[in-house]
Amino acid sequence: MDQAPVKWKKVLLKIGGESLAEGEGYGISFSRVRLVAAEIKDVKDLGVQIGIMVGGGNIFRGEAASKGGMDRATGDYMGMLATILNALALQDTLEKIGVVTRVQTAIEMQEIAEPYIRRRALRHLEKGRVVIFAGGTGNPYFTTDTAAALRGLEIEAEVILKATKVEGIYSSDPLKDKKAEKFDEISYTEVINRRLGIMDATAISLCMDNYLPIIVFNLQKRGNIKRILLGEKVGTIVGG
Ligand code: UDP
Repeated sequence: MDQAPVKWKKVLLKIGGESLAEGEGYGISFSRVRLVAAEIKDVKDLGVQIGIMVGGGNIFRGEAASKGGMDRATGDYMGMLATILNALALQDTLEKIGVVTRVQTAIEMQEIAEPYIRRRALRHLEKGRVVIFAGGTGNPYFTTDTAAALRGLEIEAEVILKATKVEGIYSSDPLKDKKAEKFDEISYTEVINRRLGIMDATAISLCMDNYLPIIVFNLQKRGNIKRILLGEKVGTIVGG
């Protein structure tokens, strides 16, 4: 069967924990996970190599815990464990619809997932498996956005697809400010200097230093990932 021409052949998809929860909510919503999995399956069917970095903010955030009096590093380790719960939920849902996956964790727990081994991840991708990266970078004081940039570079992804609940990057928060304007394109430095807050500065800097473009898009609109991969202008592209 002929494959549709795709613009991006290897991608790193960053899915924040909130995409796996209902509304702003807490926990894992299986109907949300099924929707996300269906989007990923469409991408697989295009023959694109896809790595996924999952967040954990729907379960636990170290920074919030430290504001409540917890030791920051301990809270961050709890946050990293939260990402592993999300990864297993996503893996199970993807496999139920016939997508072959592997979870690789940055913190070893070999009874439930492979440890992160770059060469093995590359091999899985070549074989058409979806690799779900869990546990962030494995280090406290980082975010899963930075982990997405890091793994994206390591697997030589051509682009980071950063899933959000809005159409792209705006001049201010579009959920709070009706005058917020959406950018179609923006430079890394502008995102950092204007503190647009779409990803943390460490993640943006890592992408900037290594010329890795980021596309920020709405994951809640069915078919968006596929549109991006087929070269349609969706969301905001960060580059320059
Ligand atoms: N975290 C960490 N190091 C990492 C990645 C994540 O310490 O490399 C912790 C951190 O506490 C963070 C939590 O894991 O708050 C969940 O990740 P994140 O906030 O990035 O998830 P998202 O917002 O994408 O759901």
